[in-house]
Amino acid sequence: MTALQSEIKLRGRRIFELVDKHPEPLLSKAGFYQRLMALSMRDERFKAQLFRFVDVLPSLRRSSEIVEHLDDYFSDDGFGPLVGVGVRLSRIAPWLSGRILRWNVSGMARQFIAGRNPDDVMATLRKRHAQKIGFTVDLLGEGVVSEAQANEYAARYLDLLEKLARETKNWADPLGKNSELFPVVNLSVKISALYSQINPADPADAIAHLAPKLRPLLRRARELAAFINFDMESYAHKNITLELFKTIFTEEEFKDWPHAGIVIQAYLRDSETDLRELIGWGRARGTRFAVRLVKGAYWDYETTKSRQNGSHSPVFLQKPESDANFEALTRVLFENESVVTAAFGSHNARSIAYAQALADELGIDRSRFEFQLLYGMAGPIKRALVKMGYRVREYCPVGELLPGMAYLVRRLLENTSNEGFLRAKFAENVSEEELLRDPRELIRADGASPLGSPIPAKAQDRRYQNDASLRAQRGDIFKNAPLVSFVYKESQDKMQSALREARKRFGEKYPLVIGGEKVWTNELTPSVNPSAPEEIVGYGSEAGIPEAERAVKAARAAFGKWSWTPFEERARLVERAADILERRRYELSAIEVFEVGKPWNEADADIREAIDFCRFYAHEMRRLGRPKLTQQVPGEESYHHYWPRGVAFVIAPWNFPIAILCGMASAAVVTGNTAIMKPSEQSIVCGAMLMQVFEEAGVPPGVLNFLSGRGSVIGAHLVDHKDVNLIAFTGSREVGLRIWQSAGVTQPGQRELKHVICEMGGKNAMIVDADADLGEAVGYSIYSAFGYQGQKCSALSRLILLEENYNRVMERLIPAAASLRVGNPEEPGIMVGPVIDEAAYRRILDYIEIGKKEATLAYQAKEVPPQGYFIPPTIFTDVKPNMRIAREEIFGPVLSVLKVRDLDEALEVANGTDYALTGGFFSRSPANIDRVKAQLEAGNVYINRSCTGAVVGRHPFGGFKMSGGGTKAGGEDYLLHFLVPRVVTENTSRLGLVPEETSEYRDEFLWPNPK
Ligand SMILES: Cc1cc2nc3c(=O)[nH]c(=O)nc-3n(C[C@H](O)[C@H](O)[C@H](O)COP(=O)(O)OP(=O)(O)OC[C@H]3O[C@@H](n4cnc5c(N)ncnc54)[C@H](O)[C@@H]3O)c2cc1C
Repeated sequence: MTALQSEIKLRGRRIFELVDKHPEPLLSKAGFYQRLMALSMRDERFKAQLFRFVDVLPSLRRSSEIVEHLDDYFSDDGFGPLVGVGVRLSRIAPWLSGRILRWNVSGMARQFIAGRNPDDVMATLRKRHAQKIGFTVDLLGEGVVSEAQANEYAARYLDLLEKLARETKNWADPLGKNSELFPVVNLSVKISALYSQINPADPADAIAHLAPKLRPLLRRARELAAFINFDMESYAHKNITLELFKTIFTEEEFKDWPHAGIVIQAYLRDSETDLRELIGWGRARGTRFAVRLVKGAYWDYETTKSRQNGSHSPVFLQKPESDANFEALTRVLFENESVVTAAFGSHNARSIAYAQALADELGIDRSRFEFQLLYGMAGPIKRALVKMGYRVREYCPVGELLPGMAYLVRRLLENTSNEGFLRAKFAENVSEEELLRDPRELIRADGASPLGSPIPAKAQDRRYQNDASLRAQRGDIFKNAPLVSFVYKESQDKMQSALREARKRFGEKYPLVIGGEKVWTNELTPSVNPSAPEEIVGYGSEAGIPEAERAVKAARAAFGKWSWTPFEERARLVERAADILERRRYELSAIEVFEVGKPWNEADADIREAIDFCRFYAHEMRRLGRPKLTQQVPGEESYHHYWPRGVAFVIAPWNFPIAILCGMASAAVVTGNTAIMKPSEQSIVCGAMLMQVFEEAGVPPGVLNFLSGRGSVIGAHLVDHKDVNLIAFTGSREVGLRIWQSAGVTQPGQRELKHVICEMGGKNAMIVDADADLGEAVGYSIYSAFGYQGQKCSALSRLILLEENYNRVMERLIPAAASLRVGNPEEPGIMVGPVIDEAAYRRILDYIEIGKKEATLAYQAKEVPPQGYFIPPTIFTDVKPNMRIAREEIFGPVLSVLKVRDLDEALEVANGTDYALTGGFFSRSPANIDRVKAQLEAGNVYINRSCTGAVVGRHPFGGFKMSGGGTKAGGEDYLLHFLVPRVVTENTSRLGLVPEETSEYRDEFLWPNPK
């Protein structure tokens, strides 16, 4: 063992010795809290229910509500005995149990929250000062949804600073040495509380908004000789926080101010790079600064998010990796002590002992760095460190319970975490030797942690992974493509450069493609940029009836061979298309930004969806392709299988210009049909790009044909064509119903019944329950209603609020809408861009006029760009279900708010339209959630999240009633609409002799063999 390792052990043992002198259980508050935490550690399901209950409790106002929730959360699933007394009491004396519970949970929160307000917290701070423990104070309330909230938060910070400075004027430094490095007053700030529109793709915008809010605080802190620390939040905020820190503290005014600090999270794989860059910056700046090194508080969130997205996790997956990295970064900090003051935010005796031992080895005086620990946690360790003569500072959150809930739940998770140091030491009595082991010895090459699995056991089961299909066969796996993360500078740069390149190609002309040949016509249709209509993104050749006829002939001619081509070959074709889409991802996203006004992340999501459609349908075709035995019967075998229908006519809208066109076309082609695809007249360039992708993938001539032109001319002609067998349409109700009707008429010479896949619009509703998390409900509602200007068929159009909640939601909703960034989506971080064209612009403005007559205009944005088809986000209140704005599809950034008595009426209103596409519900009542799941009339029902953003394979998408024919794009039934089923039966007995067994699958019936 090296000298350093021996010293670490020595230090660690000394800490334990001091801790054991005044032992304190992990859960220092006896009674209710202790019992619940102990139960949580024994039963993961109980823990989940408990934390959910704790989360909702502060927002419940009546005792009866508390009791109902208690019952809902704990009566089922065998938890009755665990919380038996509570549940029984709640039935006998609901008023009493409601109060007791609230009191108990408040007590639980008080364990971690140092005070409700600045006055309140002073008592705690004084007590700690007497114990030689310093403080850093944090105002609870991260993740604001509006600028009004953010400004209020900034003002409260300034107040807090004044108060703390006044009250601690005469406080001396506890060590009386190097005190100039450690001001008494220390504030911790979170950027997500100071700006509501932070978008990782646009650090410049975030900094431009955050810096002016921070400067007055920093200025005053400097005058008052206080210290300001930037806390670190989720990974999405990390680069912006670092950038902001460097920008602001390089400014002339703050360049020579040493009392600024930032957090580095050792659980991040890129934390060492960040720290080294920060130190390089600090050296160039020439003034000291501080770093609080922590492991990180968002591990569960980061791993869940990356697993949902199928992307690489930014955090280490083995706990000892984070521990080892913490030690490595401790060394980096100490080796650069001349410019950076270190603070170690940890409760782990090994991590702490490492810092102590290394400081000694490097000759760094113990008064030149500090240990920071959280209020309400690891009291004995704090006392031990003081005793050992170290600097100790406590992180003290201040605020009310409601805004503090996210913080409280993070602490509860930390205390009960399987892998946490505190639980191991104070609840499970793991041996000192084990707790002080070098974490590097514990890292396992196979990725599994010896202290337990780094990823919950369930998640390791393939079936619970993002990439797993529950029906996968023969090793064939469908995996969603991850979304591009614009957190990374590299992604931002790639997108900027793709936009520049796309601009250079403005005005290019795109041909039709028929039977593998490029076809030019005399007419060219321009496609314009809705943000700047004088800019022509490209021209598409306009097909007329002759080209439409030619396309049908080509498709029909290609059908024979293609329909006999093995499904594996067809699946590989669409998979190659997916690979090409992936390769050209940024280029295609950039074209969408210009041609249909999509914000960056929405454009990227569209290309991702196209990739997913290709891979998912390839996967599904392999599942459906082989003839399958219907029953095992001696002497007879019957195989059920599918044939393609013939020529498919694919008609797509402009709002998902590549994804929807690609989804319908790839489904047609992979199932053995041949297809003619017609893009929307507003998104010809995107359509032409998709055709290029399929050509490069090697689609045989005639199998896929590209026909841009007017719906009223070629569209109508092909829908009625006797040789078109299948129509796949996504678009407006008006056109959809016409197609449905025309396709029902048999034309002379027609030999097949036409099959119509018809997906139309919606009038989507979201209900907000009385106990909903209002921050989430408002944030998601705003995104669902105004993201991509409300032009998704899934967009929220009717927000239904219960009377009880109405004022509280509206108080947040209007300021949140007023904070939205409206502008040219070429800029990163814009959420609301232009609507698609002049006709849409006029139609939506007309609806706004109707709304003004029918209801009350509650909000309308004042500033939108003067050029381009920009409509100000608009909210109407006093909307009644029978009004036009509550019934008709507007397809723009217009939201109607309807007030209802209770959930019964909410459901009645939500279901009272012609449409049934998407719908949503915000609630934390399990009983109400169950009811809405059962009763809300929508093809896609979303609980506690946005009602847009369906993911292929995960959220098969499509509605019923006047929203569509019940087909589900990206779902397991979808391909069946492109196929006709067939059964072949053979008597296999000869003279009473029968084969013993018949195999479940056969290879395809292929004739003539195309090879
Ligand atoms: C004063 C103070 C301020 C803080 N400020 C911030 C802040 O601004 N931002 C922030 O994010 N955190 C912050 N933290 C850290 C956070 O809140 C946790 O307290 C801290 O991560 C716990 O680490 P530990 O060393 O005390 O405990 P340990 O039990 O040794 O470590 C637990 C930590 O290990 C990591 N971990 C857990 N499981 C795994 C796994 N399977 N694989 C990899 N890593 C894993 C997680 O980071 C987890 O929190 C702060 C902590 C303190 C004490």
